Amino acid sequence: MSFDSLGLSEPVVRAVQELGYTSPTPIQKQAIPAVLEGGDLLAGAQTGTGKTAGFTLPILERLSRSSTGHESGARAARPVRALILTPTRELAAQVEASVRAYGKYLKLKSTVLFGGVGINPQIEALKRGVDLVVATPGRLLDHMQQKTIDVSRLEILVLDEADRMLDMGFIHDIKRVLAQLPKKRQNLLFSATFSDEIKALADSLLQAPALIEV
Ligand code: AMP
Repeated sequence: MSFDSLGLSEPVVRAVQELGYTSPTPIQKQAIPAVLEGGDLLAGAQTGTGKTAGFTLPILERLSRSSTGHESGARAARPVRALILTPTRELAAQVEASVRAYGKYLKLKSTVLFGGVGINPQIEALKRGVDLVVATPGRLLDHMQQKTIDVSRLEILVLDEADRMLDMGFIHDIKRVLAQLPKKRQNLLFSATFSDEIKALADSLLQAPALIEV
């Protein structure tokens, strides 16, 4: 099984090959085609399974297939199209580094937003225009409140390590974020464990999701 047989195009396959990935992991084999189809996804996966590439690769693929025509010029009008929420800044930074590595041969732009650092460089990065944002919930809400991020055209939302986000008390922040997103979008939820609270979140967030467990 190869990455191109999962429906990924040459620039994406080339980037993963250069990273030394020879074949997709079990979660990638299942998640990549499911996400490319455009539906919602509920995935049970621990870290170390390759879950990050499992959602990042098909998201990059989808964004690159349907560009908004904002790649050059008109930078203020370039909308955020995909949002990945993570529980910690370390994970946010790591996921965004993966996005950059996997998207190396694409024209898409990404940035990372987390608290504990100055907000102004983040505002500048958003002004320059980004297609994909990786964020922790609190700082994302700060940007939403200050209207320094425009999520009105969001197409894809990922909750990564959703169980850890709930353990860290982010449920209210997540709900406040969700309330501000367009209703029509693709939702992916990744969690290592499935408490009643996670199941309730999944029920409220996901429509007829594909189910993956590794
Ligand atoms: P993750 O579970 O997303 O944190 O990924 C765990 C590690 O596996 C990361 O260091 C990735 O770079 C690596 N990785 C992800 N997918 C593959 C793959 N298909 N082949 C080899 N390494 C991979």
